[in-house]
Amino acid sequence: MINLKDIEEELSEEISRINTISQLQQVKVKYLGKKGLITQAISHIKDLPQEERREYGLKANRLKEYAEELIKKAEERIKKEELRKRLARDWVDLSLPLEPAVGTAHPISQVLKKIRHIFVSMGFEVMEGPEVELETYNFDMLNIPKEHPARDMQDTFYVNREGYLLRTHTSPVQIRTMLSQKPPIYMIAPGRVYRRDDDPTHSPMFHQVEGLAVDMDISFGHMKYTIETFLRAFFEVEVPVRFRASYFPFTEPSAEVDIGCVICRGEGCRVCKETGWLEVMGCGMVHPAVLENCNIDPEFYQGFAFGLGVERLAMLYFGIDNIKLFFENDLRFLRQFL
Ligand SMILES: [Zn+2]
Repeated sequence: MINLKDIEEELSEEISRINTISQLQQVKVKYLGKKGLITQAISHIKDLPQEERREYGLKANRLKEYAEELIKKAEERIKKEELRKRLARDWVDLSLPLEPAVGTAHPISQVLKKIRHIFVSMGFEVMEGPEVELETYNFDMLNIPKEHPARDMQDTFYVNREGYLLRTHTSPVQIRTMLSQKPPIYMIAPGRVYRRDDDPTHSPMFHQVEGLAVDMDISFGHMKYTIETFLRAFFEVEVPVRFRASYFPFTEPSAEVDIGCVICRGEGCRVCKETGWLEVMGCGMVHPAVLENCNIDPEFYQGFAFGLGVERLAMLYFGIDNIKLFFENDLRFLRQFL
C-alpha cells in the first residue's frame, strides 16, 4: 500500500530545501517522472479493489496537482532569487561620475600644437605646403647645388614624375611664402617630411617645423632671441642655449642650436653622449641668393630661418628613446600621454 501522505510530506520538505533550478529538475523527476513516486502512485489505482479506487484515485490526482503547483512556485522563487543575486553581483553605482572612453591627441600632435602656440604668440603666422613638392622649390631655389649629397637617391624619395619629389624638409614652404607675399614675413611651416632614413632615432617620415622672418634690419640677434625664447617656453625651464657655427646652403652664416641636456642638466648622460649638450635645431640668416630667387632685394631686406625636428623635441620632452614608438600606435604607449 502506497502512503500518499508520506509522499506529500517528503515532497514539501525537499522543495523547501532546494535553491537551484537543477535541484528542482531532480525533484521533478523523482516525483513526477516516468518512474516518479507520484506517477507510480497513480498507476497503482488499477491494482486496487474496485471500492477503494475512487477515493484513492481522487487523493492521488490531488497530490499530483499539489506537486505541480509546488514545483511551479519553487521555480518562481528560485528564478527571483537568482535575479536578485545577479543584480547584486553586477551592481553599478549610477551616482559615480561618468568616465567616457574619449580619445586623446597623439604625443606628436600635442608637441606640434605647443610649438605652434609659442610661435603664434610671438607673432608668427602658420603656413602650409604640399608634401609632394617641386624639386626646384625643395633644392634649387634654396641654393642647394645640383651635386649636393642631399639630392642623392639614397636620401630623397623621388616620385614617378619628372621634377617632383617627397619634400625632404619644410624649407620649400619658405620659397612658396616669399613668392606669394611681400615682406614683412613672419611664418612657421609645420608638416611631414620624407627621407630614406631608418634607425632608432630616424624614421623615413617625420615632422619638421620651419621658421622664417624677412623684414628690414633683421639681425642674428633677433634670431637668437626668438630661438632662445621658443626653447625656454617649450621646455618650461631656463635651459642654457648655445649657437655653434655650421653650414647650410640656404643660410649664411648658419648655426646649430644646442640646449643644456634636459635629462642630466649638463652632468653628462647617455642621451647627450656625455657632452651635457643636445642638438635641437638648425638656423641661420637667409642667404642673399635665396632672397633674390624669390624676387626680394637683399639690399633692403634680411631674414632668418630655422628648422627643427618635431620627433626630436618630443623625444627629449617626454624622455622617449625610440622614434618608432610614435608610429606603432600601441595603445599602451599612447595612453601615457593623456
Ligand atoms: Zn645628458
